[in-house]
Order: sequence, then C-alpha cells, then structure tokens
Amino acid sequence: MQGPSDAASPRIPLSTVRGFAKIRLSHGVTPLEPAPGLEQALGGPRLLIKRDDCTGFALGGNKCRKLEYIFADIVKSGADVVLTAAGVQSNHCRQTAAAAALCGLEARLLLLPMVEHDDPAYRSNGNVLLDRIYGASIEVAPKGCDAAVRLAENAECLKSAGRKPYIIEFGGSTPLGAQGYVDCALEIIEQAAAMNEPVDHVVLACGSGGTQAGLIAGFRHASPHTRVHGISILRSDEAWRDEVAALALQTAKLAGLSALPGNGDCIMHFGQLGEGYGMPTPAMLEATALAARRGGLLLDPVYTGKAMAGLLELAGRGEIRAGETVVFLHTGGAPGIFAYQDLFSSLTASC
Ligand SMILES: *Cc1c(COP(=O)(O)O)cnc(C)c1O
Repeated sequence: MQGPSDAASPRIPLSTVRGFAKIRLSHGVTPLEPAPGLEQALGGPRLLIKRDDCTGFALGGNKCRKLEYIFADIVKSGADVVLTAAGVQSNHCRQTAAAAALCGLEARLLLLPMVEHDDPAYRSNGNVLLDRIYGASIEVAPKGCDAAVRLAENAECLKSAGRKPYIIEFGGSTPLGAQGYVDCALEIIEQAAAMNEPVDHVVLACGSGGTQAGLIAGFRHASPHTRVHGISILRSDEAWRDEVAALALQTAKLAGLSALPGNGDCIMHFGQLGEGYGMPTPAMLEATALAARRGGLLLDPVYTGKAMAGLLELAGRGEIRAGETVVFLHTGGAPGIFAYQDLFSSLTASC
C-alpha cells in the first residue's frame, strides 16, 4: 500500500507561498460579487460578498484555506492519523474529514456538546452526516470534557499502538493555518481594485479567530485603512479581542510581513452572540431569511447568519456609513441548516 506521504505527492498539487508548502483543496479564487437587494437593506453603504462558501472543497467554507497549509505540514510530518475537536455541527471537522480522506489519512473527530439544542437532527444530520460519509471516526465527548487533554490522551494511545498522530488545533487557528486568510485578504484587495471599489470595511463571523487574524494581518500589510470587524459567535469576553490580535501579530510575523498589526487593528463586536455558541437568535433568523430572499444566499445559524445580523446592526447605527464599501465574508456553513430543521421550518413566506 502507498504510504500517506506518497499519496499526497505528486498527484495532489503542492505549491509554496511565502515559504510555506500548501496543498490545493480549493477550486481557486472565490467570487467577489455585488448583492443589490441586500445592499438596499443596509440603507447606504455599498456591499460586496466574498464567496468563501464557494471554496469548492467538501461543500465549501472557510476552513479549506487554513487546511491547505495545515495538511501540507501533516503530509510532511509523515503522520497517518489526524485528530481534531470541535462542536458537534462543526464545519471544521467536516472539511478536515474530507481533506484527510483526500490525503489518504485517517480522521478521528472529537465532537463536543457545546450547544443545548434539542432538534434531533442536530446530532445526526448536517455536518455529522457528512463526517460519517467521509469515513471519519467520531467520538462524542461527555459534557465538561477538556478537549485538549482528551486529544493528547488519544494521541498518546495511538502512538503506543505504533501510529503517527497529528493534532489539528481548534478550528485550525494557528499562525500557519491563518496564512490562508492572509491569502484571502490579498485576493479581496486585488479583486476590489479591479472593480474600482475601495474596501473600507470587512465583516465576518469570528469563531476560533484564525480567519479574522489572517485577514487583519493581510489588510494591515496591503490596505491599512480597511477595518476588519469580527462578529463574535463564540465568546463574549474582552480578552478574546486581545487573543485574536495576538494571533494576527504572530500570523503577520510568520508571513514575514513588514507592516505588523497592533491591538487596535482587531475590532470585535459581541452583540450577536445571544445565549451562546450555536444558540439561535431572532436577529440571526431574520438576517438568514433576508439574505436568502433578497440575495439568493444561504447563510447558516451558527456563524454567517449572526455575522449578517452584525453587519445590519453596524450599518443601522452608522458605524459603516453611506458611501463606504463593505465586504461581507461569506464563510460557508450551510450544511448546518439541516441540523436546525425545526427552526427554519418555522419561517413563513412573508418573513
Ligand atoms: C469556523 C467558521 C467560522 C469562523 O472562523 P474562525 O477562523 O474559526 O474564527 C465562520 N464561519 C463558518 C461557517 C465557520 O465554519
């Protein structure tokens, strides 16, 4: 049988970006496109959507850009089994399971009960169903389980059985993974310039922080006037802002960028979290219906629905003003819709 490192070369395209190896998972540059109906709802600012829901791999989403760097490192390390942990309906786990499958590696997912949501679809449909199809093994953690400790124990156990485990950090949010969103920032800047649009603001959902950190590093370097707004969907403490700022700085240093981001470059908003991670809010439901019905866009209940609600709020209170251009980063997540069947079934035609 072919070993995993053989499996990834030379058939999986490998490139080098800023000195780091990167495998190709995405289908290439994602569209940056107008959304006139949604723009109208903002009441002044111009709106462009960066379609990272269309990265292409494993139904798309933002984790793919981070995993392109991380899986290059995994393959180089000679690992044969990949471990990661996240919430039950994790898009990160789905994309990790698919990337492992592509690279000929085993994926072991530790799914954490982070959400009190009693729709039975939550535990079996959406991303969980896809994880199973991709062949990942799934361990559902007990409540209160320390994921890092459990992953380390599982890795030790595998090592003593002669395996070579590799642990992917929560959400792939390391300075290496975040390089994927340095790339995305540069991509947006180039696309917007070709459309003669300034990028005054970027708005996105912030979960494990790597996506925002990479964007901050990239924009600080190549378009310092752009403000990158994270809508927090996981934590509500101010310390979180400093942690993401620190990750942005580490990411910029690792990338070898000369302009380094400071604490003030990390803008975080905490008003959309509701009762917590994965817990639906009325504003999320409304924003999801609006994006679908005025933009033909599928958002998700955990991340992008709350991020869109955040964008509407920022425009509503004038923090993003008429005449400015805002890019909404669509980070994917639509498979999660099928885990919240009851919730979305309650939408009526007139919402
Ligand atoms: C993971 C995820 C995010 C957040 O990205 P982080 O880098 O973890 O902050 C946003 N949207 C979707 C759909 C995601 O799956």
